[in-house]
Amino acid sequence: MPMNVQPIPTLPDRINQIRHLTAEIVNREILPNENRLWAWRREGVTDGDRQQARELRADIRAKVKQAGLWAPHLPEEYGGCGLSFLEHAYMNEVLAYSLGAASLFGVVAPNSGNQKILLKYGTEEQRQKWLVPLTEGKLESGFSMTEPDTAGSDPRSLKTTARRDGDQWVINGHKWFTSNGKRADFLIVMCRTDDPEGPAEQNGKMTQIIVPTNTPGVNIVRGVEVWGRTSDHSEIIYEDVRVPLENQLGKTGSGHQAAQDRLGAGRVYHCMNSVGQMWRAFDLMVQRTMTREVHGGLLATKQFAQGFIADSYIDIQAARLMTIHCAEKMDGGGDARTDISAIKIFVPEAFHRVADRAIQVWGAAGVSGDLPLAAMYQGARTLRLADGPDEVHKILIAKNVLKHYREGESWDFGG
Ligand SMILES: Cc1cc2nc3c(=O)[nH]c(=O)nc-3n(C[C@H](O)[C@H](O)[C@H](O)COP(=O)(O)OP(=O)(O)OC[C@H]3O[C@@H](n4cnc5c(N)ncnc54)[C@H](O)[C@@H]3O)c2cc1C
Repeated sequence: MPMNVQPIPTLPDRINQIRHLTAEIVNREILPNENRLWAWRREGVTDGDRQQARELRADIRAKVKQAGLWAPHLPEEYGGCGLSFLEHAYMNEVLAYSLGAASLFGVVAPNSGNQKILLKYGTEEQRQKWLVPLTEGKLESGFSMTEPDTAGSDPRSLKTTARRDGDQWVINGHKWFTSNGKRADFLIVMCRTDDPEGPAEQNGKMTQIIVPTNTPGVNIVRGVEVWGRTSDHSEIIYEDVRVPLENQLGKTGSGHQAAQDRLGAGRVYHCMNSVGQMWRAFDLMVQRTMTREVHGGLLATKQFAQGFIADSYIDIQAARLMTIHCAEKMDGGGDARTDISAIKIFVPEAFHRVADRAIQVWGAAGVSGDLPLAAMYQGARTLRLADGPDEVHKILIAKNVLKHYREGESWDFGG
C-alpha cells in the first residue's frame, strides 16, 4: 500500500511540493522494490541479484537528483539541494516511510552529521578535501566519541587525548561504537586537547580532529555485535596517531559545542524519521487487522486490536505534533532546548510502542525479516540511549523548568 501524502493546507506550497515529490519516489520507485534494493542482506542471494540491486539504487539516486531532492541537509554549493530546516524536517517523515530510503536521498548517518560539522566548523580547504567527496559518495566517514571506559552520556569525562608535538597532533585513546568505522576513509575524533593551563588529561577542553583511517596507529579492533548481529559500530584504539595540526576542526576547545550542534537540529530530523517509520508500522498493522481471521472474525473486529489502533494513532499524532512544534520554535529562533529534550525522550518511546503493537498484530511474521517491523523495534529501542539517553534529557528538562520558577516565572506552554 502506498504512503498517503496529501497537501497540508497550512503549509507553504514549497513544503507540500517537496513532500509530494518525495512521496512519488518512495511510492513508485522504492516501496515496490524494497526486497530487491537491499538484496545482499538476504539468504541465497546471487551475484546477479547484487548487481541488479546496485543498478536499481543508482537509478533511484539519479531520479532523486533529477527531482532536486539530493542531500537535503546541505547547500547547493556543496552538492546538496539546499532545503531549509523546516523543508527538510517535513521531507524526512515521508522518506523514512521505507527503511533505508534515506541513503537513496543522500542522507546517511554518520556521514550526514559529519557533513554538517565540516560545513559549520571546517575551513574552506577542509570542506573541499573532506566534505565534497563525502557528498559525492567518494569517501566514507565515522564519528568517534564514545569510549568503553568512560560515560558517553557525560562527554566531559572522555579520556582520549591529543597533544601538540611540533606541527602535529598526537592522539591516544580507546573508542567504541564508532559507526561505519571499518568502511570509513576518515574519522572525526573527539579528543581532550592541551590548553595553556595544563596537560590534556587534567585541563584539556574537547576538540574534534579529522583522522584518516589509514594513519599509522589507528587500530580497528572489531565491529561490536549489536542486537545479535555483526556490525560496523567499531571499537578503535588510537595509539600515537599523528595528524597535522590543520586537521583540527574549529577552534581548540570547540569540540563539545560542535557535538551539540551536530545533535540539535539532528534530533528533529531523527524524530521526523521516527514519525515516518511509525506511519509505516501503523499502515502495516491496520492492513493486517483487516485481512487476518482469528477466532471466528477479522482482527479488526476485536477490541484488543482496535485498542492497538487507537493507542498507536494517539502516539503518532502526539509525537508528530510535538516534533513539528519544536521544529517551528527552532526555525523561529526561539529557545527550543527543553522541547528538543522532550521530543528526544517522547518520540523514540512512542515509536517503540507503535512498533511493538504492530509486531504483536502480525504475530511471528512481525519479528521476521520479511517485514521492516523487527528492524524498527530495535532501532526505536536503540534511539532511547543513543544521542543522549532519556535520563540526561529528563535532567535538562527539569533544569530548564526549575530555572524559570526560581526566577519567579512559571512555564508558558503556549510559548
Ligand atoms: C547502534 C549505536 C550506534 C552508535 N554510534 C555512535 C557513533 O557513531 N559514534 C559515537 O561516538 N557513539 C555512538 N554510539 C554511542 C552512544 O552515543 C552512547 O551509547 C550514548 O551516548 C550513551 O553512552 P554510554 O553507552 O557510554 O552509556 P553511559 O554513559 O554509561 O550511560 C549508561 C546509562 O546510564 C544512565 N544514566 C546516564 N546518566 C544518568 C543520570 N544522570 N542519572 C541516571 N541515569 C543516568 C542512562 O540510562 C544510560 O543509558 C552508538 C550507540 C549505539 C547503540
